[in-house]
Amino acid sequence: MNLVSKCGIACSTCPWGPYPRNTMTAKDFDQYRNNAKRILGYMPIKTPCPTCQTPNSKIPAASKLPNLRCLIRQCVDKSGIANCAYCKRFPCDTVKATGGAWHRKSIEERLGTPISEEEYHMFVEPFEGISRLMTIRATFRSEEIVEPAIAHIKTEIAGFPENLPFPKDEKASFKAVHKLLTTIKESPLGLRDPDTFAQQRTLENRRAHVLRFLWILGCYGKFENDKGVYLVVDTNTYEANRGSEKTLAIWSFVKNTVFNALSEFGVRAERVALKGFKEEELATGTGYMRSRGWQMKMSFDEEIGGKPALEALQTYTRKLEEKYGKKAFQHFSDADMQVLLIKK
Ligand code: SF4
Ligand code: SF4
Repeated sequence: MNLVSKCGIACSTCPWGPYPRNTMTAKDFDQYRNNAKRILGYMPIKTPCPTCQTPNSKIPAASKLPNLRCLIRQCVDKSGIANCAYCKRFPCDTVKATGGAWHRKSIEERLGTPISEEEYHMFVEPFEGISRLMTIRATFRSEEIVEPAIAHIKTEIAGFPENLPFPKDEKASFKAVHKLLTTIKESPLGLRDPDTFAQQRTLENRRAHVLRFLWILGCYGKFENDKGVYLVVDTNTYEANRGSEKTLAIWSFVKNTVFNALSEFGVRAERVALKGFKEEELATGTGYMRSRGWQMKMSFDEEIGGKPALEALQTYTRKLEEKYGKKAFQHFSDADMQVLLIKK
């Protein structure tokens, strides 16, 4: 059997799938699960995934896998193809992030030691989705490769209220914040093919995380001292206010995606290790930021308004929080500044 998932993973040999465990005793399976955990960092679940090629209607309701919200699975289905190898935009960034995350080099780097050939074939090779899809694609005729499903989603951005009751320079700082939010909302944030279904959803998710980061630092951040040009939040404040943007807990995502995206717009963000902590102690083996030992800092370049714009961000987000509570972030995401028109 040679069953391939929609993102190129080998379902026939996947430790989470139904097949390898079929031939194992309960004891062997326990050992196999522990080995998978040691090498991959995650323990295969006891109830097997029926594979993502199984239609939704045939997946048992209690099944934890496949992930029914998987963007690649939805994109492939909407595009009417069996897997991403048939797609003209392959490999899009969404499939690269999933089908390309685990391979021999990335696993050995994380473990800090080489793995044996047997371990490689048993636990790592099944997940080398991108190279598997490339091999499959090389066998196609050009007419077998098709355009993927395209998404048409309108971006909501409120206009800047020109009649703000603030002195000219303060108004200019609010306008700088509005421009920053608008630019972020209109940007593909480094993603290629943002018109495809999977990439559009990836973009929405990425945008929400970038805006949430700005929100946390803006609303709950403090200036270090009177002369400070940074807003700073401590670990607990950062963790308590991540909202639905849960990937803000994963350091590689924050560093490579959020910080990089913000730097394009003149926003400098960094995680700083506190005294007595080393960089390598700040995240778990699976990449989650630990709940101690660091703080987040953020500043604005002069070109986007510098410290006055940072202060305007703070005023704006705090007013939103005061007026709208849990719904404040939505107004922020829409760059809605009507709240600044309300007199105390
Ligand atoms: S977890 Fe993914 S690769 Fe493994 S069996 Fe399920 S769909 Fe296939
Ligand atoms: S656009 Fe959709 S079908 Fe095409 S490679 Fe990306 S996830 Fe796969």
